[in-house]
Amino acid sequence: MPTPREWAAKGTVLRITRWTEPVMRNPTRPVTEFGGELHQLVADMFATMAVADGVGLAAPQVDVDLALFVFHCPDKDDRLRFGIVCNPVVTLPEGKNRRLDSTEEGCLSWPGAYQPLARPDFAICEGQDENGTPVRIEGTGLLARCLQHETDHLAGTVFGDRLSKRSRRLLNEQHDTMTALYPQDWPISRKLAPADL
Ligand code: ZN
Repeated sequence: MPTPREWAAKGTVLRITRWTEPVMRNPTRPVTEFGGELHQLVADMFATMAVADGVGLAAPQVDVDLALFVFHCPDKDDRLRFGIVCNPVVTLPEGKNRRLDSTEEGCLSWPGAYQPLARPDFAICEGQDENGTPVRIEGTGLLARCLQHETDHLAGTVFGDRLSKRSRRLLNEQHDTMTALYPQDWPISRKLAPADL
């Protein structure tokens, strides 16, 4: 499998959509064609994620209503993991195996804003890779969070939906403060520095 860098080299950086756009709020269509068109989308998503400095990116975030995401993310042992999951299904621990981790979370589609969100510290994500071959990823640490966050996107759910009213208000205040730094077509156009405003 190509590395994220090799994928990105074949891709084009696309504009990242924001939470206010309908494509982010609608359920996605399953991936059924695993050919060249899908591979180009995957390359574009890796290119976009790298430039935006993200650890995961779902297709609706590049304005495509298909059920897939890419990731390039450290686990709890700081091992960088990467991959592509089409039609993902996440399984979370139940009962005494379920431990919540409350770490700050952010989203490339609501840039500049972070809030702590409690999520299970382990997740299994099953689906298919870019060729339709079954994949199963066991994620710990930030990767567990990433697998849950990206799979949520494919159902039209954003992490702000999972926050308390108060945390959501703080998140939106941060976003309002930071949003001027992100051009409308970011990351095609670069993020601005506060001095540029
Ligand atoms: Zn996100």
